[in-house]
Amino acid sequence: MARSGANAANGIAAAYDVVVVGGGAGGLSAALVLGRVRRSVLVVDAGEPRNAPAAHMQGYPSRDGMPPGEFLAVVREEVAGYGGVVLRDTVTEVVPDGAGEFDVVLASGGRVHARRVVVATGLVDVLPDLPGVAGRWGRDVLHCPYCHGWEVRDQRIGVMFREDVGVHQALLFSQLSSEVTLFLDGGELTDEQGELLAAAGVRAVAGKLAGLVVEGDRLTGVRLVGGEVREASAFVVPPRMVPRDGVLTALGVRTQETPAGTFPEVDPTGLTSVPGVWAVGNATGAAEQVVNAASAGYRAGVAVNAALLHADLTARRLLQPV
Ligand SMILES: Cc1cc2nc3c(=O)[nH]c(=O)nc-3n(C[C@H](O)[C@H](O)[C@H](O)COP(=O)(O)OP(=O)(O)OC[C@H]3O[C@@H](n4cnc5c(N)ncnc54)[C@H](O)[C@@H]3O)c2cc1C
Repeated sequence: MARSGANAANGIAAAYDVVVVGGGAGGLSAALVLGRVRRSVLVVDAGEPRNAPAAHMQGYPSRDGMPPGEFLAVVREEVAGYGGVVLRDTVTEVVPDGAGEFDVVLASGGRVHARRVVVATGLVDVLPDLPGVAGRWGRDVLHCPYCHGWEVRDQRIGVMFREDVGVHQALLFSQLSSEVTLFLDGGELTDEQGELLAAAGVRAVAGKLAGLVVEGDRLTGVRLVGGEVREASAFVVPPRMVPRDGVLTALGVRTQETPAGTFPEVDPTGLTSVPGVWAVGNATGAAEQVVNAASAGYRAGVAVNAALLHADLTARRLLQPV
């Protein structure tokens, strides 16, 4: 296939065995596996991984504490070492070609043919609309005890109530500090929630929240409507987690309801309900940490390679079509 002008300008070919949409841990892991078995792979990455606001990535064995950007740069080099191409661009559409393969449309104007597609586009954290939260996200406004809990141990930690989620977060953070306060923000606790929080030593504060207090590039407190300020050096919020699944929904991928919202349905290898399209990482579930996303990418890479091998051999009539 001839390269279009836009593809030539991007330095990419007209066709690849696999196009991976999204170059976070999930997508790059899939590309690494595929490159190592000599599949031609293009990773198209818009460059906004979910944990970009955080200075450190925790809990990834052997890389605990590494800056997230550094981690991805290392994996990009590893992918390139096996001939994989990583392009900074955005996929706007994946169009079935009618023969079981796909045309991938790029925002820059390019168009690439892909025999198979892996979607690893992550999710968006929709933060509560409270003054101060967005500017401190990933620094001292947090959501996850596994990502940031150790770093704020023994500090004064405020938690924003949003029904079960806020209570769950307050209970988890109580493992890390005896100074956890749950801000009810006008909400009400059930008797059971109140008892659990009391057993964990978490105080509940009634009253609506007005915003965060930031001094010298540091969170120092939580302000209530009326002006009262409670000291806090970390504030935990429950973001609404929305998969970046535009490419998948346009393909008609089946979705499923999860406790964290609606996510694409995938099998254990990441295969979606659309043959030839896999999805991995946070695009498929809110609980996928970096190591899970990388693991899912690996599994998908293996499955995609098997599917391609089967297709190749079938085409050569060494296997009968199933
Ligand atoms: C503040 C914060 C801190 C965190 N800290 C940790 C931690 O310490 N340890 C841990 O394990 N987890 C942590 N996480 C979770 C971690 O961010 C995710 O587990 C991880 O990013 C999931 O990887 P992914 O590959 O699925 O998605 P992402 O890393 O989000 O990567 C998706 C990529 O796809 C790109 N993309 C999206 N749409 C398109 C498109 N249409 N075309 C091309 N590219 C596209 C995005 O720009 C992005 O680069 C943290 C999360 C947050 C919010």
